[in-house]
Amino acid sequence: MRRILACLALALGFVTVQAQAEELNIYSSRHYPSDELLFGKFKEETGITINLIQGGAAELVQRLKLEGANSPADIFITTDAANLWRAQSAGLFQPVTSPVLEKVVPAQFREPSGLWYAFATRARVIVYNKDRVKPEELSTYEALAEPQWKGRVLSRSSNNEYVQSMVAAMIAHLGEEKTEAWAKGLVANFARPPKGADTDQIRAVAVGEADVAIVNHYYFARLLASDKPADKEVVDKVRIFFPDQDSFGTHINVSGAGVAAHAPHREAAIKFLDYLASPEAQAVFAEANNEFPIVDGVAPSSVVQSFGPFKRDTLPIDDLGKNNGAAVLLLDRAGWR
Ligand code: FE
Repeated sequence: MRRILACLALALGFVTVQAQAEELNIYSSRHYPSDELLFGKFKEETGITINLIQGGAAELVQRLKLEGANSPADIFITTDAANLWRAQSAGLFQPVTSPVLEKVVPAQFREPSGLWYAFATRARVIVYNKDRVKPEELSTYEALAEPQWKGRVLSRSSNNEYVQSMVAAMIAHLGEEKTEAWAKGLVANFARPPKGADTDQIRAVAVGEADVAIVNHYYFARLLASDKPADKEVVDKVRIFFPDQDSFGTHINVSGAGVAAHAPHREAAIKFLDYLASPEAQAVFAEANNEFPIVDGVAPSSVVQSFGPFKRDTLPIDDLGKNNGAAVLLLDRAGWR
């Protein structure tokens, strides 16, 4: 009898383990059709079904906080160092590691204790109107604060994480004082008060509302790859420039993911992170979103390759989060709306 019970317990245990391993709950603030493709391929490879919950980064962080230890979340995926930092500093991730993650994710692109890992990178570049600006006139983000750019510069609002993280990087490189002087100079050069997303800035440059804008590279790549006549008109007028090539390099940010603090399916979650770092998943990111793969040997999309090689900032992405608070206060002092 005892033996039967033991067998039954084993069998039940086995069933429980199997049931747990069969699904994975992902909270994602990314909204890309390619992500669906990724999740589908993951299921094919592992048999693990993904339950996807989408929302804004701030909204999902808030939800994770409210759910606390009862949260069903296994993984939180988001873009931008600032969002990863918010989740990290609220204790929403748990440290994990694996031989794959150790091997393929460079130290620059992960939280040192394994709270999150980046799986794609993006560059914050300058785009310019080719009829109004010669590339020789461009050099650095810093130079755009000089008086000759008065009324010619566009950026999105400082509410946006992309802006905050770039300023966080500037603080790391130049110190707060110089960064604040730069931010004030840049704000003084704005062609209009910040409004819209990065693509709106690119379109405004194309029609001559401003001469230059600071945007993420993949928005420009997306327009370049588009068949729409309106997009073709835009890219006919606009060119891309990678700033700060003689100093710290063009600012780099990430898309990243970590295992949730109370993940019910921890092992499956680690498998998923391993999968995101696989050449197959990396190629999907590269092709579908025009982001840069983090894994050596996976090529960027052909549009992104056409930009040519450039010097990237090597600042640990973790440092961008640490400077986020200082960046937000500085942007406010600089009057960057
Ligand atoms: Fe974006």
